[in-house]
Amino acid sequence: MHDSLAEVRSDAPQLMGALLGARDAVQRLDATEGRARWLAYVAIGSTMRFVATQRRRRWQAARHGMITVIAATALDLVLLASASPEAARASVLVNLLIAMAASLAYVFIVKHRRRSTVVPVFTVLTLVDVGAVWLGLNHGELHTISFGYLLLLPTIVALVVPSLTRVHASWLAAHIAFSVAYVALSAGGAGFEMFNELALLGVATALSIYGHFAGLHAQIDSYLQIQRINALNRQSVRDHARLTKLNMILGETARTDELTGLMNRLSLRLDLGMLRARIARHGGRFALLLADIDRFKAINDLHGHVAGDSVLQAVARGLSGSTRQEDGLYRYGGEEFALLVPITTGTALDIAERIRRAVEGLELPHPANPPHGRLTISVGVVTVGAPDLALQDGAWFKRADEALYRAKAAGRNRSVVWDTPKV
Ligand code: GH3
Ligand code: MG
Ligand code: MG
Repeated sequence: MHDSLAEVRSDAPQLMGALLGARDAVQRLDATEGRARWLAYVAIGSTMRFVATQRRRRWQAARHGMITVIAATALDLVLLASASPEAARASVLVNLLIAMAASLAYVFIVKHRRRSTVVPVFTVLTLVDVGAVWLGLNHGELHTISFGYLLLLPTIVALVVPSLTRVHASWLAAHIAFSVAYVALSAGGAGFEMFNELALLGVATALSIYGHFAGLHAQIDSYLQIQRINALNRQSVRDHARLTKLNMILGETARTDELTGLMNRLSLRLDLGMLRARIARHGGRFALLLADIDRFKAINDLHGHVAGDSVLQAVARGLSGSTRQEDGLYRYGGEEFALLVPITTGTALDIAERIRRAVEGLELPHPANPPHGRLTISVGVVTVGAPDLALQDGAWFKRADEALYRAKAAGRNRSVVWDTPKV
């Protein structure tokens, strides 16, 4: 008990400090956000964990991208067939080839989870480019649709397949070079139209670059949020554990006597409630003992309060040593102690005598306590069982007190069991 009190004293400030520290950590996290934003983004973007998250995301996006391509080929077939019935054969061939390549790429991506998705995805995209250009060059009437694909692809790629920046830039450069070559080959001399198409390609390029960085930015932001939520979660779990410990320590302090480390009156009151419930449910008899140090005031008067306190602590230790785990031992008041002991074998008087002898056995000199000459206690005892449940706690203590008074009057250093007064 003494140890836990010492722990209370040493732990409480440290625990409070830890709680305040947690609050500071959250504030620090907030402050970092505004500082050197771009550098922070670059730093976060290159962390192992973010790279791993991105890898998973790219794997999923690549699968979805391939499904999108397969669906687009079906749509394209309908579109091209209605735009040019003459080119129907060619468009079926091109779209079938692309759909087959996308299906193969899909299977490859699903099977080889850990491999890079760059090669299959960009092979399919190259096929889309080549197919569109080939159709456009061979069937002039499909030029607008083919060029439309070349225009749309950079934006779609930026949105659907979030690649690494260098991969995206390389593909975009190749795609734009290919598209410019197509425009040059298919323009048929109309300078203004060519200029328009090149300008549109410029816009598509800008959109793709913007889409790529906006996507990356959003991913880093969401990654940061998740990290932050995880950190706060971990912090709150730690705080909760600390608070639980602090609460336990505070609860124990409230029920412990500061000087002796024994349980105090609050504990006694709570334990009496439990004792009543136990008697009501299971029956049994208990001894309620009030032990009072004999002529204790003289110790204070002769040696001072500090010495008196040490004597109280020594008596508390002596009493603890003579009681069992299931017995309740409390500091009732100044130099008075209360005990709640189940009567299993013997009588209540046996119990009282055992603890009285334990204090006597400490052999603490007390010349002002004649004729005993050493420190002794007097004990008043009352037994409580089912028939006594009708009485209040106060009535039990009154009886124990009466018995104690008789022990004092009879010469001290003795135990008296309360008995029904004879009339
Ligand atoms: P009796 O044998 O009749 O019980 O005599 P007593 O002197 O023990 O009884 P009394 O009630 O006259 O005196 C009790 C003393 O206990 C008075 C008070 O100063 C002292 N006391 C109460 N609490 C403490 C405490 O926490 N520390 C110290 N040192 N003394 C205390
Ligand atoms: Mg007293
Ligand atoms: Mg006393």
